[in-house]
Parts: sequence; C-alpha cells; structure tokens
Amino acid sequence: MKSIKNSDTFKCPNGCEDFEHEFWSLVDAASSPELKEAAQGGELNLIMCPSCGHYFHHNNNLIYFDAATKFLVFVFDEKERADEKNLKEKMSHDYELIKNSLAKEINLAGEPACVFGLHELKDLIEQEEFFAQESEVVAASSAAAGYKIATLQPSYARVRGYPFFVPVKAEKNAADLAASAKAVLDGGLNSGRLRKFAEDAQKPGFAPEFLQ
Ligand SMILES: [Zn+2]
Repeated sequence: MKSIKNSDTFKCPNGCEDFEHEFWSLVDAASSPELKEAAQGGELNLIMCPSCGHYFHHNNNLIYFDAATKFLVFVFDEKERADEKNLKEKMSHDYELIKNSLAKEINLAGEPACVFGLHELKDLIEQEEFFAQESEVVAASSAAAGYKIATLQPSYARVRGYPFFVPVKAEKNAADLAASAKAVLDGGLNSGRLRKFAEDAQKPGFAPEFLQ
C-alpha cells in the first residue's frame, strides 16, 4: 500500500480567509515512517492557517496501516461517535474491500481496530509499540535459550494479550508451546504476555493461530 493524500478547502477557526491544504486519508506506516512518527507525536493532519499561523487538526476519516504487524485502524472524526453503529457497519464493508484489494498480498485476518479522533490513534500506536517491543524481547530471550521462534497471527495475539513470537522446541502443539514458554520464563524473562500464553496453552481447547 501507499499513503494517500487529499486536498480540501479549510476554514480557520479565527475566521481568516479560506485556504487550500493537503491532508492524509491513508497512512501506510511501512512506506511512510515519517507519518507514523507524526501520528505518534500528535502532528498528523495538523494544519496551519497561512494567514494567522493558528494550528488545528483536520479530523477527517482516516485509515492507518502498519504491514509489519498487520495493524489496521479506522480513525473516525470524534464528532461522529454518536453514529458508532453505522460507522462500524461501513467499516466492515470497507475492511472487506481493503482485504481483497489494496492489502491482498498482506493476508489480513481478524477485526480491524476503530478509534475516534487522532489522540486515540496516538494512544493505540503507543500500545502497539509496547506490544512489538515486548514481543522482540521474548523472541531474543527464546533464541538465546536455544528455542526456535514461532510467529503467532498478529490479530490473534493482539486480542488475547500474547506476544507475536513464542518459543517452541520441536512441534507447535500445546504441550511443547506451554513447556517452552515456561522454560524461557523460568530462565528469568519477565514478560506478562508470554506468561499469559504459557497459562492459556495448558487450558483445554487451546488452538493457537500461526502466521503462515
Ligand atoms: Zn487564521
């Protein structure tokens, strides 16, 4: 995917003359790391009035996508929160379109996230960063302890609070996964996510989804 930019006529809250400005409607974090940074810093779609220098956010509907972790977020204008039910229906429709066209090669799974306002997007990206960092630490500790690394389906890991990566000795079955995770934790790794995975792997009906 590629980030998509649009242009529109804007009204300054201070009543200055209308002006044309660009804004982003699709952010592809992989190909536009500067836009990911802008979203993290609260500067995405921050518009400056050329007459008075006043800054304001353009709260258009926006799609944020990070292919690395298959992280897809629909961002809606905060003012539309009352209309959440209809928006979610529209989102499901758009999501199917994206899955089967723009992001076909990425093999998206699970439900997309949905937030209202750019500040909620900022918080969600931050959570996602913690998630990715903890996952990297789990992978590094597992490799150092002599384990192979299995990659969970990101959407599956995300909703259950597991890391993306888990250790495995020989086979990706529940017994091996539980024992491997426990051994890495016993080796001194402090990871709440891997602990949760290790606990759940011992429960009946455990059916992990791996990235193919
Ligand atoms: Zn102005």
